[in-house]
Amino acid sequence: MILENLRKELIRAGIQLKEYGLVTLTGGNVSARDYRTGLIAITPSGMEYHGLDLEDIVIVDIDGNIVDGIRKPSSDLITHLQIYRAKEDINGIIHTHSTYASCFAVLNESIPVVSTTMANEVGGEVPVAKYAPVGSHELGENIIEKIGSQQAVLLQNHGVFTFGKDVYHALVSAVMLEDSAKVCYLAKNIGEPLRLSQEEIRRANNLYQYSYGQN
Ligand SMILES: [Zn+2]
Repeated sequence: MILENLRKELIRAGIQLKEYGLVTLTGGNVSARDYRTGLIAITPSGMEYHGLDLEDIVIVDIDGNIVDGIRKPSSDLITHLQIYRAKEDINGIIHTHSTYASCFAVLNESIPVVSTTMANEVGGEVPVAKYAPVGSHELGENIIEKIGSQQAVLLQNHGVFTFGKDVYHALVSAVMLEDSAKVCYLAKNIGEPLRLSQEEIRRANNLYQYSYGQN
């Protein structure tokens, strides 16, 4: 079986999305690019993450041709491929409709950086990509236009895409963004949260990238 490890990483990430409460039933999707072959692994359309077997993961080339798979790929495949084509440093993508991030998306309001957690793990204010129908070429273009140094983009009236150098980092962004969106949402209910300055966001993000953890 090709890309066995990548398939395992995708299933693990899908299960974690469920465990962290970021997806409901079969919502959301996960993909990763294999940096050696350039092939992309993506979760199948409309299947629960907990029941996925390795062969349920669909392997496609950058043009979306199925290289290996018995399932229909996620309905957001075209958007994932557009992002991979446009951004060489992105090798993991996660899409969810996580509740607090989606609250900002339906208000067409970006999520400001009001906590060090968000500065550390998302890397900047998360903007909203203009509305376009699911699966349209326009939706992918609107997302790509908003990708910057931050690891996520909201989709107006829809949800959120997060990115990473691999699927694990896209997962961390998805989890920590939802956490940050929740803090911001709740804080807005009792006052006006203070924003961190651009300089402080950069400093916190750099420190986190190079000093946090055991490596
Ligand atoms: Zn969606």
